[in-house]
Amino acid sequence: MDEYGNSGEGRATRRDEAVRAAVEQGLLGPDSPIVGLLDVTGIRESAAELRAAFAEVTAPGTPVLHAFAVKATPLVPVLRLLREEGIGAEVASPGELALARAAGLSPAETVLDSPAKTPAELREALALGIAVNADNPQELDRIDGLVRSAVSRSPLGIRVNPQVGGGSIGATSTATATSKFGVALRDEGAREWVVRAYLDRPWLSRLHAHTGSQGIPLPLMAQGVAETYALAEEINRRIGRPQIDTIDIGGGLPVNFASDVTAPTYAEYARALREAVPGLFDGRYGLVTEFGRSLLAKHGTIVARVEYTKSAGGRAVAVTHAGVQVATRTVYVPGSWPLRITAYDGKGRPKSGPEVVQDVAGPACFAGDLLAEGRALPLLDQGDYAAALDTGAYYFAHHYAYNSLARPGIYGFVPDHAGGVRFATVRDPQTLASIVAESGGAHAGALTTLHAPGSR
Ligand SMILES: *Cc1c(COP(=O)(O)O)cnc(C)c1O
Repeated sequence: MDEYGNSGEGRATRRDEAVRAAVEQGLLGPDSPIVGLLDVTGIRESAAELRAAFAEVTAPGTPVLHAFAVKATPLVPVLRLLREEGIGAEVASPGELALARAAGLSPAETVLDSPAKTPAELREALALGIAVNADNPQELDRIDGLVRSAVSRSPLGIRVNPQVGGGSIGATSTATATSKFGVALRDEGAREWVVRAYLDRPWLSRLHAHTGSQGIPLPLMAQGVAETYALAEEINRRIGRPQIDTIDIGGGLPVNFASDVTAPTYAEYARALREAVPGLFDGRYGLVTEFGRSLLAKHGTIVARVEYTKSAGGRAVAVTHAGVQVATRTVYVPGSWPLRITAYDGKGRPKSGPEVVQDVAGPACFAGDLLAEGRALPLLDQGDYAAALDTGAYYFAHHYAYNSLARPGIYGFVPDHAGGVRFATVRDPQTLASIVAESGGAHAGALTTLHAPGSR
């Protein structure tokens, strides 16, 4: 195992201990049949690994802001923990900005990147001094107006799409020819438009691209960053001074969902970037990164109780409390987003025994609500637990309210001094009263009191 636990052994041990302790301590049981668990030790390790990886490849004194993509795990305590580890926030909506502010992040630690910023959002960001990357010419027009009308400390840039191509998953490929994000650099006239935008605006000091994502190979990511760097160099050359002083390389490092091993690592990515784009690291540019999934995915686990087991058409089926509401992508697009499942017994101990091909089903009322189909696992029994691994990003923090299923409680954990596990509540389980309130409970009569002319 290396310094950061990238072989994943420590992580797997901590996870097993946490599941057992969650059952022992009553966080998990017949009356609370699903939880999300967050490995605080692992999150700290990944944050430290990210910082060290870029510190190793950048010239001494280079300003580097690692801004966590809040959309990956939009939970205030997670943002606060990352902040303590020296990680800022990349936000893409008023809600995400509110979460970052609630976590105590300062404007200087925050970057705003949404593709659909309203005039009010832009005004607020510039008033606060938050960095903004304009997505398109119309947005830049709006920013022009704001810059003319008030002084702002916000570092401002433009997001470009180098159009280097997509990866194996269409929905998360940001750098295809027709991606909706940023200014499409290879389109006719676009590059010249970008250069002119900087020539005309001495206050534009950043350039942004986010080309990576799950399913994208490292060389393609490095190519996207290389093309962004080349554009910054061209712009500064044409202007005759280093007007662009910071390059935001986005996030998108893929995550290994097949085992506990962290691969690729931040260190590998940083070295691949330095190899492909040495000039980016020689100290002339500050850097911003926006990693999301790779910081949190491997540190989250969904654990769900097996309510019933049955057999259908010769297939063993375990009906659990985790399905589409917490693993939406996996349930709807299982081929692109398979999750590892581990089996625990009713006391939360890893289950052994011969593997049996079975379906691990969720609680929602449609046939396709399967966490895993035809998976070989020790046979799950009623009262056992099934855990969906690597779900710390884009899973239990992204509840989908199908069947009005409640958002599960989320708990962070660390080992304690006595060989046990300590938990802290990150998010309370959703109450039924809250479900009713969020479903128009305060407006129960709203539609029956609304009559069209001539109707009863
Ligand atoms: C989603 C997103 C990220 C984070 O992507 P990950 O794949 O989670 O690392 C970073 N920057 C922008 C602009 C994004 O939209």
